[in-house]
Amino acid sequence: MTHAFQRCINPNCQATYDVRQVLCRCERCGSLLDVDYEWDKLETPSKLSYFEKFWTERYIPQRFSGVWRFHELLPFAPLEECVTVGEGQTILRESPCVANYVGKSAGTLYLQYEGLNPSGSFKDNGMAAGTTHGRLVGARQAACASTGNTSASLAMYCGATQLMKAVVFVGSGKIAFGKLSQALDYGARTIQIAGDFDDAMARVQEASQRKGIYLLNSLNPFRLEGQKTIMLRVLEALRWQAPDWIVVPGGNLGNSSSFGKAFIELHKLGLLQKIPRLAVVNAAGADTLYRLYNQEGLRWNQGQIDQTVIDAFYTQMDKENRRANTLASAIEINRPVNLTKCLRALDFCNGVVTKVTEQEIVDAKAQIAANGFGCEPASAASVAGTKKLVEEGVIDKDARVVCILTGHQLKDPNVTVAYHSGSAEEFAAKLGARGVQNAPYANNPVQVANDIEQILDLMQ
Ligand SMILES: *Cc1c(COP(=O)(O)O)cnc(C)c1O
Ligand SMILES: [Zn+2]
Repeated sequence: MTHAFQRCINPNCQATYDVRQVLCRCERCGSLLDVDYEWDKLETPSKLSYFEKFWTERYIPQRFSGVWRFHELLPFAPLEECVTVGEGQTILRESPCVANYVGKSAGTLYLQYEGLNPSGSFKDNGMAAGTTHGRLVGARQAACASTGNTSASLAMYCGATQLMKAVVFVGSGKIAFGKLSQALDYGARTIQIAGDFDDAMARVQEASQRKGIYLLNSLNPFRLEGQKTIMLRVLEALRWQAPDWIVVPGGNLGNSSSFGKAFIELHKLGLLQKIPRLAVVNAAGADTLYRLYNQEGLRWNQGQIDQTVIDAFYTQMDKENRRANTLASAIEINRPVNLTKCLRALDFCNGVVTKVTEQEIVDAKAQIAANGFGCEPASAASVAGTKKLVEEGVIDKDARVVCILTGHQLKDPNVTVAYHSGSAEEFAAKLGARGVQNAPYANNPVQVANDIEQILDLMQ
């Protein structure tokens, strides 16, 4: 017996669907779907410290999992049927040096390092939940379109559980090598489309509809359930005290949407009084949310979102042939699929949206790594965005801020090597073409003859 169901997010519609139905959107109005629960019929904890008791149950795979440890807050499948590959063993760490870099007081900046997940990105939080739903409905094949990390994650879960076969669609030439290598190595059928992420996204939806393949990209509401636990672990690490701000890079806006949903639910269940503010950071080269939110004034507006503004925006984008272009490939997205849910999250969390340049991203990335947390370019947008918002006076320098580091450094070594490389040619080819002019935090390798005296000279 489950008390979970799916519900259309459009308040004028609110159509509901069985938890076992496989849908991407509301059949009645086309809006996105939430996973929802009859909370009054469920036993929910009376305070968040309830979850601490599971720390001593790490021999149970689902309680070892940083996702299913919080099963009571995403109970759409029985605990013993929840899929886990050991995701969510991630860490929140205060970073005085990064605080200094972004102009904040020491002790006020925290990094939530989701690169520690088994496939190296936060996507595993969602994929644990998504593959659990796939299992619930008896899916044999699962597909996604991806800028890379979703496909790496899906491929890993399918390989580890042998429940489903993975098919992943990627835009050609757009995927970072670390990510592509994972999809191939985990054995996913990998289809490179002559097009970008948005093209891959459109094709995978058609293909999965026509072939009855289970779709596991971020339109899938079950994935977002898993990603709620990133916020639960942040709260846990802060001894259940909400920070003032959560800062997250925005691509398809699944993460920001799921964070908002987590806070809406925690508030509704009386588990959290203070709600952190949310800052979503776009790359300047992929700034759909930034433009819609800050320039067009698009808002959640109690669910009455002005679709004409969105339609006009995309029509203009296509007319001008504007295409997302950023070295932060994980957020190189034109049409964020979770836009409407993200607007709801921004509304509930009194959020802001900002954008950062390629230069700001790679510099922040180098600073984060020099302080011991290696992340991929998209992740560094959170720190670069924090720096910008502190400079603008939006974030107070004493406010407690948590930046989400979404993916691991090794996902995209090319950008890192180009930044630190001593070679002007490599820098110009890889980064100069992207508008990165210099590398103030470069750590250049030194060339030397195979001669011990010369080597020792370098070590003074
Ligand atoms: C997917 C991804 C993002 C973007 O997250 P959304 O939920 O799509 O906004 C950011 N960083 C990394 C490393 C990712 O893999
Ligand atoms: Zn609907």
